[in-house]
Amino acid sequence: MIGNFEARIPSGSLDRKWTSHKDHSRLVSPNNRRKFEIIIVGSGLAGGSAAATLGELGYRVKCFCYQDSPRRAHSIAAQGGINAAKNYQNDGDSVYRLFYDTIKGGDFRSREANVYRLAEVSSNIIDQCVAQGVPFAREYSGYLANRSFGGAQVSRTFYARGQTGQQLLLGCYQALCRQIAAGTVQMFPQTEMLDVVIVDGHAKGIVTRNLRTGKIDNVAGDAVVLATGGYGNVFYLSTNARGCNVTATYRAYKKGALFANPCFTQIHPTCIPHSGDYQSKLTLMSESLRNDGRVWVPKRKEDCAKPPKEIPEGDRDYYLERKYPSYGNLAPRDISSRAAKEVCDEGRGVGPGGRGVYLDFADAIKRLGEETIRERYGNLFEVYEKITGENAYNVAMRIYPAVHYTMGGLWVDYNLMSNISGLFVIGEANFSDHGANRLGASALMQGLADGYFVLPYTLPNYLAGQMGRRPSNDNAEFKKAERDIRAKIDNLLKINGKRSLDSIHRELGTLLWDKCGMARSKNGLEEALGKIPELRETFWREVRVPGDGEDFNQSLERAGRVADFLEFAELMCLDALARDESCGAHFREEHQTPEGEALRDDENFADVFAWEFQGNGQIALPKLHREPLHFETVHLTQRSYK
Ligand SMILES: Cc1cc2nc3c(=O)[nH]c(=O)nc-3n(C[C@H](O)[C@H](O)[C@H](O)COP(=O)(O)OP(=O)(O)OC[C@H]3O[C@@H](n4cnc5c(N)ncnc54)[C@H](O)[C@@H]3O)c2cc1C
Repeated sequence: MIGNFEARIPSGSLDRKWTSHKDHSRLVSPNNRRKFEIIIVGSGLAGGSAAATLGELGYRVKCFCYQDSPRRAHSIAAQGGINAAKNYQNDGDSVYRLFYDTIKGGDFRSREANVYRLAEVSSNIIDQCVAQGVPFAREYSGYLANRSFGGAQVSRTFYARGQTGQQLLLGCYQALCRQIAAGTVQMFPQTEMLDVVIVDGHAKGIVTRNLRTGKIDNVAGDAVVLATGGYGNVFYLSTNARGCNVTATYRAYKKGALFANPCFTQIHPTCIPHSGDYQSKLTLMSESLRNDGRVWVPKRKEDCAKPPKEIPEGDRDYYLERKYPSYGNLAPRDISSRAAKEVCDEGRGVGPGGRGVYLDFADAIKRLGEETIRERYGNLFEVYEKITGENAYNVAMRIYPAVHYTMGGLWVDYNLMSNISGLFVIGEANFSDHGANRLGASALMQGLADGYFVLPYTLPNYLAGQMGRRPSNDNAEFKKAERDIRAKIDNLLKINGKRSLDSIHRELGTLLWDKCGMARSKNGLEEALGKIPELRETFWREVRVPGDGEDFNQSLERAGRVADFLEFAELMCLDALARDESCGAHFREEHQTPEGEALRDDENFADVFAWEFQGNGQIALPKLHREPLHFETVHLTQRSYK
């Protein structure tokens, strides 16, 4: 294995670890900072905030993204909000409570120290964003407003209507633009990273393809930061932007970076149901809607075809309120998703194919008035109406779970550095903070914590020992990486088969959704592991990638990403099979409580699974490394939201 597989968690009490780590980390003096070149791949909330902050500190940053502008990163899609332990509502919140909710929400499969740090810096994020002018919702008095998200009994979610991600990204983008204008950050839009270059065991560069011209280049740096987001699109249909992919992290994995918990995928309970075979993406209806909307299905199958208004109160099953009275409609995502699947499997689902449940605002409108609901969620209701043609102020929304977020990602230590020295991974691309299930409004918090407040301390700690070690990009490793990428592109263009990329990707996604989705079983996973290599062979034999390499060619871009998904899917299924327990969103049918909840096996699986590439499945299975999770502060309990 390249490098070190040590979590490097600082000693000392939980609430002092981060402060004392910062106090003892090495620094780079202001005059020396401009001598370092940092490569940041990704300019969403994680990458953008890191690039702006490191630029402000005086480092020279090269920042890459595949969109035409950092403004289009998938972070822009985030609707509902961002958590912070400010306790503005005086409802009992604290750093400890946010920490505890996050650990519990993740079903005790994340590191205490990382999660505590996240809760600790959460308040700074809000201050930072307010200072940037992010227009968070405010009370009439002018104070910042909050709402509740799943898995919490306090209101700690800050929001900007249903556009929180967009507004946060605008704030971040302004800070980034300031550094671009100051010359500290150089932005490379429409440039895709296709490989990491490792020199003497350290990540020292990347290979890129200019997506407008097709030109392949390589770039040397003193450190590489991956902020490339999540890989939910491996399922083909997800709430992610169409471009989201696994290529950057998967190719780093193939170069020796460990991939942690790849099977931990979040299925979000409130999405617009799938409506047809040619649909290319699914749409989220923010979890914030569950503050006021009530989830229900008819008690009797016979009523499912009736319009919801014709089903009287007594014939409705508000199943989340019934099963989880203390959290009700705000039960966490994994639990709410499974509960929806369960009632639909019983034949009580509504809408086409019986794959839907109601999210009903009638009570809230009666209590608060339509205007208040419009103020809170107006743009979400508009999105819903544009897609379904239904007015949710009059008729209950129909929702169903969909793939949404990936808790798995590249393994990182406490410094957010992978096992490869100098390769840092931040935001959704790493595995670090959410365990087996992420709580709502915690991804934005983590991405911005990593970029604004963690990496700016931990990266210098690495750089301090690296002065003058940046290789030239004439180095043999760069040349080899570039040759390999060219060969891969040529191979894709040569296939010239008859099947479309989408048809193969869709087939992969359907297989994963059935066998490695909301519920998994040994038999199902073994079946998927048999079929994925066959599908991969079909791809390399029959897919058609039109156009050529040295040109603008979106089919070629997608082909590389689908090829990676076809290998990565196998790693997900292997991980799901090896984790012979249920935890959070990883629900192995063989392991459930009598009430049908996830049944953990702490004795054997309170570990992070980190996989090392050995050649794809047909050559050699990946090697599993396990990082035991030590719980010194919280007691492991059966998660209960009753
Ligand atoms: C519909 C939706 C709503 C959500 N709502 C919320 C919410 O309300 N609250 C919350 O906390 N979370 C929410 N999330 C989750 C949250 O939005 C994401 O987890 C988060 O924005 C990810 O940020 P990121 O910076 O890690 O990645 P991204 O924003 O995905 O950015 C990835 C960046 O990497 C670049 N990139 C990727 N691969 C390459 C490559 N190979 N080469 C070059 N560049 C590359 C991209 O161009 C992009 O700039 C939501 C997610 C979805 C799908």
